[in-house]
Amino acid sequence: MDSHTIMTGVLGFPVRHSLSPQMHNKAFQSLQLNFRYGSFSVEPSKLSDAVRGIRGLGFRGVNVTIPHKVAILPYLDEIDQEASLIGAVNTVVNENGRLIGYNTDGRGYVQSLKEETGIEITGKKILILGAGGAARAISVSLALEGAEQLWIANRTPEKGKQLAQSLQSLSKADDISWAEIPSVIQQVAVVVNTTSVGMFPNIEEIPISPDLLHSNLLVSDLIYNPMETKLLIEAEKRGASIHKGLGMFIYQGALAFQLWTGKEAPISLMRETVLQELLK
Ligand code: NAP
Repeated sequence: MDSHTIMTGVLGFPVRHSLSPQMHNKAFQSLQLNFRYGSFSVEPSKLSDAVRGIRGLGFRGVNVTIPHKVAILPYLDEIDQEASLIGAVNTVVNENGRLIGYNTDGRGYVQSLKEETGIEITGKKILILGAGGAARAISVSLALEGAEQLWIANRTPEKGKQLAQSLQSLSKADDISWAEIPSVIQQVAVVVNTTSVGMFPNIEEIPISPDLLHSNLLVSDLIYNPMETKLLIEAEKRGASIHKGLGMFIYQGALAFQLWTGKEAPISLMRETVLQELLK
């Protein structure tokens, strides 16, 4: 670092588990960019001070993670359209003192899904399990990408209903109960698990019965610890195609990198760096 170094980082609470610093710093280094990425543990009551810090210290931008993705909205000068539809921001860019909020989670997911599986999303019927923050981001981006029908199933039905209703201006979207999943699953092309069911340490858990999985499905799981969840293992056994969660993390980071630097992100290096960290 020297007196020209341009700062970026992540604001979260907790944030010490984040692999973004290793991923971004490796990427900056490989492109010989004098940028650095730090990790900042920001208590919810200190978020407005932290945002003032970005302006005051002239950071180029930050990522924003749990629990600040929605809370940061009022402190920003402008919200990009997709972030506005999602209702949450995960990336901030400082354009000469104007803080602009973006959401690269949904777009990152869609890019990863398309590039890693070759699927064309336009016209597809998709079943989304879960209706939390990640479900919101990916469902907006899948709808903007031209998905024909989204079905949302959530443990707490009210949240599933709210998400489906908020998507109706973008795509055909309906909430269904968990018990109704068998009646739609034969028609869907993609099932996406956005719940935390199956995440470490509960790696033997699975969000739906494996008997519902069939060989015409592409089964996608946002969880990347473990890298291959029980849901994906069972899907593979039944001849379905699978898509793992790590790609979403890499591509959301790559899109943020591009917004800050104006350069294409070194995706393979970023993936390799995160994989090495996960295997430690
Ligand atoms: P969130 O907002 O807390 O939402 C959690 C979702 O999981 C809710 O729909 C919740 O249902 C559901 N859920 C939790 N426990 C459940 C259970 N036992 N049975 C059924 N449903 C259950 O969390 P999030 O930020 O959306 O994250 C969700 C998952 O996505 C996590 O596993 C996270 O690691 C992963 N993720 C991955 C990436 C990536 O880059 N790959 C990025 C973001 C998130 P209720 O509404 O009923 O509580």
